[in-house]
Amino acid sequence: MREIENLKRAILEEYPRLTADDTFKFNCRPGVSCFNECCGDVNIFLTPYDILRMKNRLGISSEEFLDNYTITPIDKNQNYPVILLKMQDNEGKTCHFVGSEGCTIYEDRPWACRYYPVGLASPKEGENDSDEDFYFILKEDVCKGFAEGDTEWTIGQWRTDQGLEAFDEFGKLYKEITLHDYFTQGKQLDVPRMELFHMACYNLDKFRYFIKESTFLQRFDLEEGLIDKIMVDDEELLRFGFRWLKFALFAEKTIDIKPSALSG
Ligand code: SF4
Ligand code: SF4
Repeated sequence: MREIENLKRAILEEYPRLTADDTFKFNCRPGVSCFNECCGDVNIFLTPYDILRMKNRLGISSEEFLDNYTITPIDKNQNYPVILLKMQDNEGKTCHFVGSEGCTIYEDRPWACRYYPVGLASPKEGENDSDEDFYFILKEDVCKGFAEGDTEWTIGQWRTDQGLEAFDEFGKLYKEITLHDYFTQGKQLDVPRMELFHMACYNLDKFRYFIKESTFLQRFDLEEGLIDKIMVDDEELLRFGFRWLKFALFAEKTIDIKPSALSG
């Protein structure tokens, strides 16, 4: 985690800050000399939407996905739980999803794999929270995509080509939680609220079960039709999860409480 923190600091303090109109030359394709080399021994943070896409791609529950394909590093300085993609226990520590032809879950690969070699940073993660998000280019020795790259991209074109719109929509909602003023004011979540964060963000099947089987629906007044939607649609459930977390973690009035629950 220290390595990751150092990189984060360098990105915020030293890397050129790019916009969607800035360009770079890059060419990643089967046949490139480093093909698949970036899919091993690498730290890949998974967002809630990454987990949703990957577990559905694999046709397994979120619990099964978390158990088999992720690790949750524990760091007492962390404001909230984070999830990393687990690499295999082999010599190259390769990703579970890399095959001879490349990524076997390509259409549902995570946000970080899509963006690479572009990154998106939020200055709020550092000292100065007054600046806007910015893009940066991450050059790693292993990657020959720059040397072999004769294709020029704007960052905006790259985002479209890599199918990042939906990932960025959910990424923005996630950041409204992870970069909330609550944390920048130095407050910390207690263990029960850490668990709520983990469930609503990462373990959607458990969150759905919780809504259905606990007293949740007796306590909260949800809009007509919403319950039906979140019972069958993971994306609706995740959107609702972010909204509910603002209520449950930060006491924002994002959900109405039923009068009967208040009087009881
Ligand atoms: S998810 Fe796919 S693209 Fe990402 S590291 Fe694994 S194999 Fe590579
Ligand atoms: S190392 Fe770079 S060029 Fe090589 S496969 Fe990975 S992203 Fe593509």
